[in-house]
Amino acid sequence: MPFKQRLTALQSRIRQAETAANRPVDSVQLVAVSKTKPAADIVQAYLAGQRHFGENYVQEALGKQAELGAFDITWHFIGPIQSNKTKAIAQHFAWVHSVDRLKVAERLNAQRPAHLPPLKVCLQVNISRESSKSGIMLENLSELVTAIQTLPRIQLCGVMAVPEPAQTFELQRLPFKALYAAVNQLQQPTLTTFSMGMSDDLEAAIAEGSTLIRVGSALFGQRQ
Ligand SMILES: *Cc1c(COP(=O)(O)O)cnc(C)c1O
Repeated sequence: MPFKQRLTALQSRIRQAETAANRPVDSVQLVAVSKTKPAADIVQAYLAGQRHFGENYVQEALGKQAELGAFDITWHFIGPIQSNKTKAIAQHFAWVHSVDRLKVAERLNAQRPAHLPPLKVCLQVNISRESSKSGIMLENLSELVTAIQTLPRIQLCGVMAVPEPAQTFELQRLPFKALYAAVNQLQQPTLTTFSMGMSDDLEAAIAEGSTLIRVGSALFGQRQ
């Protein structure tokens, strides 16, 4: 399928999901996940108006950023964070969705260059409680929020989750609903970003309050 067709199909899925949830059109932000895809694919999306891109691997992202230096792109880091990569992430991204420990947040805070605005951060929550997954458990969220809010070079914006795959819309909704409710219970007005939903579950995420979806394969085709 040509890119334009995939983009149009995705935009109509998003709009339908917003409408079905009685939410305003364009209330959900799209981050195009370009991991494993070449810079040329990013250019194609850019020319269609897309400005926010998500990457999972630091070295791969830095290569594409160097190629695309002339473009007005907002870069989101969404992959697992190794401590030895925090400096590059702090220097080269506007957003990080995958913070799940205080030590990583402290390093990002210390390494964020002074000439850049504070780094926008979401805390990744292991909402399906999978032993192999990144993310903190929901019961530890409150404590981590409190600790990270003291870091001046971090702007804590919200949460991110990648639930385990589920087969039906109703099952897909449950983890998103649980995360949304848990964050609201914290009564922290600055936690406004719900980074929830990917190619296969974005409708369920939007139904449960997602404000930002991270979409790869539905936009760029299957990854190898
Ligand atoms: C790869 C990835 C995505 C995009 O997944 P698709 O199913 O291709 O849309 C979103 N979020 C994270 C954290 C990812 O690693």
